Amino acid sequence: MNYGHMGGYRSRRRKRQKMIKTIVLSLIVVAIIVLSTVFLISLRNRSERVEDTVQTTDTSSLPPDTDPADTAPGVLGEGFITKSFAGEELNRGDLILVRAGAPYVFPDDIELKDLYTGRKKYDNGARAYQISTTDLYLEESVLEKLNGLAEEFYEATGERGLLVKSAYRSYESQKELYDYRVERDGEEEAAKYVAKPSESEHHTALAFDMSVYKDGVNTYIQDEEEYLWIYENAHKYGFVLRYPEEKTEITGIAYEAWHFRYVGVPHAYYMYTEGLVLEEYLELLMTNYLYNESHLKIDCDDGNSYEIYYVTADDYGNAEIILPTGFEYSVSGDNIGGYVVTVKIS
Ligand SMILES: [Zn+2]
Repeated sequence: MNYGHMGGYRSRRRKRQKMIKTIVLSLIVVAIIVLSTVFLISLRNRSERVEDTVQTTDTSSLPPDTDPADTAPGVLGEGFITKSFAGEELNRGDLILVRAGAPYVFPDDIELKDLYTGRKKYDNGARAYQISTTDLYLEESVLEKLNGLAEEFYEATGERGLLVKSAYRSYESQKELYDYRVERDGEEEAAKYVAKPSESEHHTALAFDMSVYKDGVNTYIQDEEEYLWIYENAHKYGFVLRYPEEKTEITGIAYEAWHFRYVGVPHAYYMYTEGLVLEEYLELLMTNYLYNESHLKIDCDDGNSYEIYYVTADDYGNAEIILPTGFEYSVSGDNIGGYVVTVKIS
């Protein structure tokens, strides 16, 4: 009985072992099926993704059997690619708006060129413009444009009175200036002329203050007599008078005849001829000239033509930007909500 009991026990154990073997085997088979299905799906997704990159745009919103090139506006109709822009790129570029409520995002490192060594020296020892201190800096490409403007002015008028008074300012130097003006004039009066630290355009290295030094006297530049030339030609070098007299309500800054800002040639040309300040110009682009709608065409007086459009970013500054193939272009963040694409078309 004991044996019988033992025998029954053994055969039950064998049966159980056989059952476990069957379960393990079928589990392995199921695992193989699941894994190969997952592998096949991922392989298909990957090839779809490769197709996406080659095709370079999301065509899902377009009607079927339509070549996207036929429906894309302006230069994009001739072929385009998509590039991702992210985060801090929104805070960089010639068209960033820096003002009260739109603070500058300081980079870890900013590349600057000093005006002292960056100015052209003529054979007779003359300079196209003077500087108030050797401690003046701008972005190098902006300094070159300033040199071009001042040299043409000097050649046109023979005047050497132009003096650059202030250019790039760090957070600390703006804070010093602001605190000084608040102490001297009170907060309300100071705010009309001097931006709070981090809200000044001088942080960008794209702006400078011009004045006139003549016969031992330093005065603010005015749009009169020979200096009118500067106001009528600055846009040809990509500069705008940033705080005009009739726009103080929009800029929030009192009239500053001396403060010039670099925005790039086509934009300066358009803002100058249409009488728009940067706030108004960006508003116009983001309202009327989105990438998938009509684009702004600018024919500059130097014979070059440009096409401009706007791409809205998400809350983190990210955007998928559609860019033309076969054309020279640049992309600038606006520091507030999107990107401006500038395409040189001829
Ligand atoms: Zn200024």
